[in-house]
Amino acid sequence: MSAGKQCEAVRVVVRCRPFNRREETAGCENILEVDDKLGQITIRNPKAPPDEPMKVFTFDSVYGWNSKQRDIYDDAVRPLVESVLHGFNGTIFAYGQTGTGKTHTMQGLSKDPEKRGVIPNSFEHIFTLISRSQNQKYLVRSSYLEIYQEEIRDLLCKDNNKKLELKESPDCGIYVKDLSSVVTKNATEIEHVMNIGNQSRSVGFTNMNERSSRSHAIFLVTVECSERGPDGEDHIRVGKLNMVDLAGSERQSKTGAKGKRLKEAAKINLSLSALGNVISALVDGKSTHVPYRDSKLTRLLQDSLGGNAKTVMIATVGPAHKNFDETLATLRYASRAK
Ligand code: ADP
Ligand code: MG
Repeated sequence: MSAGKQCEAVRVVVRCRPFNRREETAGCENILEVDDKLGQITIRNPKAPPDEPMKVFTFDSVYGWNSKQRDIYDDAVRPLVESVLHGFNGTIFAYGQTGTGKTHTMQGLSKDPEKRGVIPNSFEHIFTLISRSQNQKYLVRSSYLEIYQEEIRDLLCKDNNKKLELKESPDCGIYVKDLSSVVTKNATEIEHVMNIGNQSRSVGFTNMNERSSRSHAIFLVTVECSERGPDGEDHIRVGKLNMVDLAGSERQSKTGAKGKRLKEAAKINLSLSALGNVISALVDGKSTHVPYRDSKLTRLLQDSLGGNAKTVMIATVGPAHKNFDETLATLRYASRAK
C-alpha cells in the first residue's frame, strides 16, 4: 500500500478537558490554547521566560474544554464504524495521562444520552445501520478483555483471573484462545455485555482507579455480514472494531516506583511505546518493518492497524500548568503518530 493511503488511514485528534474543581480551587493556570478551526494546540511552559516562543502542534482535529461527546463521535469515529460494517477493521484508542478523560471519552455515562461515550454510541450506530439494511444478514459478536502487565484477561468470563494466550492460525490470524464471544441482537443487549465487563474490571482490586490506570481495556465488536450475490451464493464479510481505553501514559519513574511496581511500570510503558512505534512506522509509510511483535497490545491489534484498517487516536490532555510535562509528552506522542 502506498504511503499516502496509509496516512489517511490514521487520524489523530486531541481533546482537552475542562479544569476540575480541585484545579479551580487551587487556582491552576491554563497552559493550553485550542484552535479548532486550524486544528492546533498551543502549549505554554509555565516556567519559561515570557519571551520564549510557545510550542504549536497541529492535528486532524482538536476539541476544546466544552466539546460534546457527540462532536467526537460524529467527526472522528462515525466514518470508521461505518467502514467496519463494510468489512474493514478499525481501532479507536484513547491515549493520555490518568485523569484527562480517556474513560470519559470512550465510555462516558451511558445513562445520560449527552454523556454517552464512543463505545455506547457505536452500539447505537451499528444497530441503527443494521436495522436499515435490506438485503444483508448480520451477526454481531463482542468480547471484552484487559491487558495488565502483558497478561490478557477475559472481562466477560467468571474466572477473570485466568491468563489467556495469544495464538496465531493461518485461517484466523492472531486471536486470543478461549476468549468469550457474545452474540447480541440489539444495542441494549450489547450494552449489558459492556456493563458486565466493566464490573468485572473492578472486582478483586482494592483500588479500581489504580488498576484502570495501569491496564489497557479493549472492547471488540465483530460484525459479520452475509449477502446473497447475483450468483445465488452467500458472500460473507467480516469487520472488527477495537475500542481501546489505554493505560495512563504518565511516566512511572516520577512516582518513585520500586521493585514489582517498577517492573509493572516498565511493562506498561513497553506496550505504549510499542504502539507509538507501530503507528509511526505506518504513518511514515516508508518503513519496511512494522514492529507489531514488540507487545501483546500491538500483536493483538495487528490486523486492525495498518493495511486496509482505519485507526483513530484520541489523545486526551488537561489544561493545568502543573501537568505541563505530561501534557507536552502526550502532544509529542500524538504528533509522532501524524
Ligand atoms: P482517565 O480515564 O483518563 O483517567 P477520566 O475519564 O476518568 O480520566 O476523567 C477524569 C475526570 O474528569 C472524570 O470525573 C471525568 O468525568 C472528567 N472529565 C474528563 N474529560 C472530561 C470532559 N471532556 N468534560 C467534562 N468532564 C470530563
Ligand atoms: Mg480511565
